[in-house]
Parts: sequence; C-alpha cells; structure tokens
Amino acid sequence: MLPIVTRFAPSPTGDLHLGHAYAAWFAFTTAMRAHGRFLVRIEDIDLGRCRDDFIDRNLQDLHWLGLRWEEPVLRQSARMAHYQAAALDRLVGLGVTYPCLCTRKQIRAEIEAANGAAQGGDATRSIYPGLCRQRDRNETAQLIAGGASYAIRLDAARALAHTGDLVWRDAVRGNQPVRLSDHGDVVIARKKMATSYHLAVVIDDAAQGVTLVTRGEDLFAATHVHRLLYALLGLEAPQWLHHRLCCDASGRRLAKRSQDLSIRTLRDRGLTPAEVLAMAEAAVTRGSEQPMPAPCPPCTDA
Ligand code: GLU
Repeated sequence: MLPIVTRFAPSPTGDLHLGHAYAAWFAFTTAMRAHGRFLVRIEDIDLGRCRDDFIDRNLQDLHWLGLRWEEPVLRQSARMAHYQAAALDRLVGLGVTYPCLCTRKQIRAEIEAANGAAQGGDATRSIYPGLCRQRDRNETAQLIAGGASYAIRLDAARALAHTGDLVWRDAVRGNQPVRLSDHGDVVIARKKMATSYHLAVVIDDAAQGVTLVTRGEDLFAATHVHRLLYALLGLEAPQWLHHRLCCDASGRRLAKRSQDLSIRTLRDRGLTPAEVLAMAEAAVTRGSEQPMPAPCPPCTDA
C-alpha cells in the first residue's frame, strides 16, 4: 500500500481559527499515525486577498500547535506558469472549456430570472446558467481581442462525455459517482490568472504526491469537480476524507472574521496548544449531532 501523504493548505487571507486548527491537526495526525508524510501548502493565488504577513503568522500558529511538516512549503503564487502549461492549455486543447464574458451582475440577473420563471424553483441555487456556452466563438474572440474581461469555464457535460462515468472515494462515506449538478460549469481560469482554486489544488496535490486529501465537508461537492479534472489531465486521483466543521456556540460555522476564536488570540490569552486543540474538538462536535467516524486508512479500490 502507498504511504499516506496528507496536507494542510491554508489560504493566507487572515489568521487561522479553531476550524483550521482542527483541519491541520486532523491531516497531521492521520499521516503520523500511519507513519506517513505531512505537507503544508500555501494557497495564495488570490493576490488581492492573500498577504505575506499572514503566511508567516499561519505557519507560526501551526508550529505553536505542535505540527511539523516537510520543507520547502510550496506557494501556489510561484506556480502560475506551471498551471498554464500543465493544466489550462491542456484542457483548452481537449475542447472541454469555453470563454465566458458574463459579469457577476449578468449571471445574478439570469439566475434570478430563471428562479422566478421556474415555479417552486430553488432560489438558493446559483449555478452558472451557461449563457456563454452557446455564444458565437468568433464574436467572443473579437471581444476578447478588444480587451474584454473573461473567465475560462469547464464545460461540465462535454468534459464528462470525454472521460466517461467516474467515481471517487471518500474514506468515510465510500464511493461517490461524479455528479456535477451542484457546480455546473466552474471557472478554471481568468484573464489575469491562468488557474483557479479547482485547477491549482488538483495540479498541486498530484505534483506533491498527496494520497489522502483531508479537508472540511464544505468542500465535499467540489471534489466531484476535482475528480473530473484528475481524469481529464490523466493524473492519478488520491482518496479524500471530508471531516466535519467547527461551529460556534450558536451552531454557526466558524469563519476568519471570528477573530475571538483565532489560534493567536487564544494563545495570547494563555491557553496551551492542548487546550486549543481540545476547544477545536469540542467545536467540531457542536457542528453535528452525528459522532465523527475515526479516520481510517485509505482503501485501494477507488
Ligand atoms: N485553501 C483552502 C482553504 O483555505 C483549502 C483547500 C483544500 O483543502 O482543498 O479553505
């Protein structure tokens, strides 16, 4: 069996909170119990929101908690040319993408109109309605040549027709047939950025030899997209393990704005790493009435 390689991949847009402490500790202990390897990766492609000082602070917090990882720490912002060549150009070459000129406002209006038209439609669904999928390609090319902003979207139906049916394995919930109904045609790159979260995470997990992607269950649906990208790019898929999320006393999921629960604040108040991790454990238990199954070693039949 392959050695377990896990990772924790923070986006340095703020200080880490209890939810991050739980996710990082979960990945670290899962690898250590299996005598595997643990990596930290900085997901800083969003240059407008990510800050270097948060990278330092995030790494200091993880170190203070007792985590140790392999060096060097990979930074996604240094890999843009690689994402372009190893992923974006290949997907465009496969004919499973299209340029999208829609603004956020146009997309919102279209979704609202569709929700209004469909009686009993689910108003919370915000999947891109595919306006640019049918748009005349010459017209689109002219607009782009004229300087228009655009995104590159993955044509989900076409991509899945290319790969055929796919399955991925969650180590707790078992085999999951790929279905893209929760995401539609996701953005995989933009005019000024040759990648997106979905593309970079797949390329990097594969490049770093991650065999078990542990992360919060808020990313469960995204894994369908990731499995598809692995298949399109001819990469060997890992297994995934989606754990529960930390919640505050009112049952709301923690966010970076919950600064009173940041690791740093708790540390400054004099708490020890063990006390902070116990708080994280308690917060994750609040996140669900169901007990969390213990992490299990990845199965090999996905
Ligand atoms: N960078 C993501 C975050 O901070 C995590 C992505 C992942 O684990 O796949 O939420």
